[in-house]
Amino acid sequence: MAWDFETDPEYQSKLDWVDAFVREEVEPLDLAFPHLQFVPLEGKRREAVDPLKEEVRRQGLWATHLGPELGGQGYGQLKLALLNEILGRSSWAPIVFGCQAPDTGNAEIIAHYGTPEQKERYLQPLLEGECFSSYSMTEPHAGADPTLFTTRAVKDGDEWVINGWKFFSSNARTASFLIVMAVTNPDVSPYKGMSMFLVPTDTPGVDIVRNVGLYGEPVNEGSHALIHYEDVRVSEEALLGGEGQAFVIAQTRLGGGRIHHAMRTIGMAQKALDMLCERALSRETQGSILADKQFVQGYIADSYAQLVQFRLFVLYTAWEIDKYNDYKRVRKDIATAKVVMPTILHDIAWRAMQVHGALGTTNEMPFFGMVHAAGVMGLADGPTEVHKVTVARQVLRDYSASDDLWPTQWLPKRQEAAKAKYAQYLELEVGNQ
Ligand SMILES: Cc1cc2nc3c(=O)[nH]c(=O)nc-3n(C[C@H](O)[C@H](O)[C@H](O)COP(=O)(O)OP(=O)(O)OC[C@H]3O[C@@H](n4cnc5c(N)ncnc54)[C@H](O)[C@@H]3O)c2cc1C
Repeated sequence: MAWDFETDPEYQSKLDWVDAFVREEVEPLDLAFPHLQFVPLEGKRREAVDPLKEEVRRQGLWATHLGPELGGQGYGQLKLALLNEILGRSSWAPIVFGCQAPDTGNAEIIAHYGTPEQKERYLQPLLEGECFSSYSMTEPHAGADPTLFTTRAVKDGDEWVINGWKFFSSNARTASFLIVMAVTNPDVSPYKGMSMFLVPTDTPGVDIVRNVGLYGEPVNEGSHALIHYEDVRVSEEALLGGEGQAFVIAQTRLGGGRIHHAMRTIGMAQKALDMLCERALSRETQGSILADKQFVQGYIADSYAQLVQFRLFVLYTAWEIDKYNDYKRVRKDIATAKVVMPTILHDIAWRAMQVHGALGTTNEMPFFGMVHAAGVMGLADGPTEVHKVTVARQVLRDYSASDDLWPTQWLPKRQEAAKAKYAQYLELEVGNQ
């Protein structure tokens, strides 16, 4: 019977190396070069980062989620989860290990649906870590419901002409190309009438109108673009997958992306718990250290309990993806991880912030960034509410309605059935009395 919670010693020694490497070499990049992960490397930054990427390659840990044919190790999702929970501590770490969102998901769909020419032009540089990509799906008037998208691609001879608006296209300002979802046939259901296009960012007509910043970032210097596509002409070869395949492709992409966020969230939440515990042991007030106060003990116990459940669930879901090799089959659990992820991170980061007192709320500690990240997790790749609907629908598939007025577990009926089943023994007992 295969049922094991241990990491094999060979991979564990790699993870130990990653843990030390991220703490000592990569986490300092977050402070030395903040918010620059998705800006192409040049000058001194390249001098600092390239040797780290080289070291990761030497250790055989570059883009491990990809198969060997794409330059990775083909480790699969479970091993990626164990790796990602360490990388989640640092915003630069996924870049240094070649597994950053949204490029992982974008690479995955090009690998899956791209032609050999598209793979050579877009996938190869992406895998080498030399360019960035952007996924351009959400529109200013509609996000959670993709059937409302109106960006249109119309065939004109052997070209497609794209017109419309997109919102929150992450990293568009530094990306070499955009993956754009557009309506190609308005006369059929949106599920069959939308297509994906690979559009180089410098194509005439691609206008980044605003770089929307997340809270705390300077206005118009953020990394989430509002883009106007105005008569953007691309060749037939720009179509990714078949015409009308956008929804199928989006599901392939978002399934992986969501669980990868969950893996990294474990790392961030663990970091918050580490800080909570250190502070609890270090700070003294009203006659004892914080760790001796029952309220604080409650914070620690609740945080540990939430994190350990979440971690096991994410590892289990990753294992399921490896086992079935089918995101659709694991949809319920991916959506469940997506639903609980913001709460886990929010709760643990919030408690850690509280225990740090005034200092915790300042820009000298990372807690507010974590709490904000929890908010982001509740929206990026779809709002929590929508994923809860998915979970509920999937759970309900395993049930059917009672065909009686009363529920099947209605006790009077069950008691009657039980008495009938064991009637002879019941009579005997009565007789003995
Ligand atoms: C940091 C970040 C990065 C992102 N990156 C990208 C990207 O690279 N590319 C891209 O295309 N998009 C990206 N997005 C956009 C993201 O996919 C959307 O924000 C998300 O799909 C929700 O769409 P919306 O913001 O338009 O909200 P809306 O669709 O307007 O929904 C608003 C709120 O309404 C409620 N709601 C919506 N639907 C339901 C429902 N069925 N039942 C109950 N309540 C509901 C929820 O509370 C929801 O939060 C990113 C978002 C964030 C925050």
